[in-house]
Amino acid sequence: MTNNTPRVPNWVNGCESLPENDAWLDKFNPHNSELLCRVADSSAADVQGAIAAAGEAFLTWSEFTPVRRGQILAEIVAGMKRRADELGECIAVETGKPPQDAKGEVGGAILQAEYFAGEGMRLYGRSLTSGTPGKYSHTVRQPRGIAGLIVPANTPIANIAWKTFPALVCGNTVVLKAAEDSPQIALLFGKIAKEAGLPDGVFNVVQGRGQPAGAALVEDPRVAVISFTGSTGVGRWIAEVAGKRLARISLELGGKNPFVVCDDADLDQAVHWASLSAFSNAGQRCAAGSRILVFREVYEAFRDKLVVKAQSLKLGVSASCDLGPVINKRQQQAILAAIDYAKTEGGRILCGGAAPSSPELANGYYIQPTVIEGLQPSAELSCKEVFGPVVTLHPVDDLADALALANATEYGLTAAIHTRNVDRAMWFAQRVRAGVANINLGTFGSEPHMPFGGFGASGNGTREPGVEALDVYSELKNISFLTRSNLI
Ligand code: NAD
Repeated sequence: MTNNTPRVPNWVNGCESLPENDAWLDKFNPHNSELLCRVADSSAADVQGAIAAAGEAFLTWSEFTPVRRGQILAEIVAGMKRRADELGECIAVETGKPPQDAKGEVGGAILQAEYFAGEGMRLYGRSLTSGTPGKYSHTVRQPRGIAGLIVPANTPIANIAWKTFPALVCGNTVVLKAAEDSPQIALLFGKIAKEAGLPDGVFNVVQGRGQPAGAALVEDPRVAVISFTGSTGVGRWIAEVAGKRLARISLELGGKNPFVVCDDADLDQAVHWASLSAFSNAGQRCAAGSRILVFREVYEAFRDKLVVKAQSLKLGVSASCDLGPVINKRQQQAILAAIDYAKTEGGRILCGGAAPSSPELANGYYIQPTVIEGLQPSAELSCKEVFGPVVTLHPVDDLADALALANATEYGLTAAIHTRNVDRAMWFAQRVRAGVANINLGTFGSEPHMPFGGFGASGNGTREPGVEALDVYSELKNISFLTRSNLI
């Protein structure tokens, strides 16, 4: 490390803020493992300072009308549009995504932000009937208070927008715990928000590790909403700790999403979508299609095409590349270990299975797109999320068999089926245990107005985004009044 290594501090009350103990974490470039920056290793006290700022700002922000809040959010959207290239470059460097993917993610985040800025003019309640003559009743949405938002690094600006905009439009203030591996983008977003006129303290960022920084947010009784996107293990811990103090909790967790290929599918389309589902973003999607269930009649034809496709994908960080590295060395090692373990359980590696050996990629956290067959549905890699470009293939006898296997893990986030038969498609979509079911598409691809979330170990039943996200970030109040006809 040199003294010139950039430092990424916290963002509290509209200013950069250094960690109290002058403690810093190293953040490495996933493409070449060079030191990229040093990140504030926030303590619980740092987090408590940010919570205090958010608490103070809540007093005024919650008094702004929803329309006014929406107008300010629209100014942030304008800032994001103006600085879209800068946001994209920042994401590309921090995550190692090819530039077109980083740019696409910024576009998705802007759409998300636009949608929720517009909610300022909707934020509808309901008008209700009453059994009492002259009594009128309606509901309004009120903010809950401070929202603690905890995000991973896989799609960093999308993750920030996904939670921040609905939280703010509902009138909450925010303390965002940024992901250790995408710190700079959170800071940049904070600066764009300030430039756009967001009052100081309404949006704060704490950098650092899950423990102690994230945990301090989860444990603090002043934080009324915890919205977490990340692994199921951490989600379980949050449910316990924040649940005990009756905070509102939204958990968007892992997935092991099934992708079904029927014998009447357009195989080239199925291969196209299966490859995107398994390998785009280096497989680092909660909605990655990581288990492919193929009718026996077309198993070999599909498998051979998918292997050719996987082998054709180019790794690297330039615009001609299909996928970049995974986010850090720990993750790369965990994926390689999962592949090795799959071999001991009878898995046959059809392609990939290792880090690439070419000199220009050898120092990065790359994993070759990997296709594995021969594993039992109960094998570890058939059931557990690896969060990397690794997919397992499983032959199935018919649609009932495919459904049984699709529903055979603890997760239930997304699913896809490829068939030309609408009866089969709808039969499967109705029965698959997943919060999202796609027909002749990939396992991913949510849009701002579509609710997203999962069954089972994929979440706790909340849905973000869509109007459903408003239920996470607001309290409903029922207001009634009695008119007196004798006074007319
Ligand atoms: P992770 O759970 O390790 O970390 C996610 C975030 O939580 C990070 O900011 C981390 O610092 C923080 N954290 C860790 N321990 C914490 C604790 N005890 N208290 C509070 N915060 C804590 O997950 P990851 O490996 O960074 O991300 C990958 C996971 O995220 C995968 O399981 C993936 O499926 C999931 N994910 C889910 C969705 C969804 O919408 N369902 C979207 C993206 C990613």
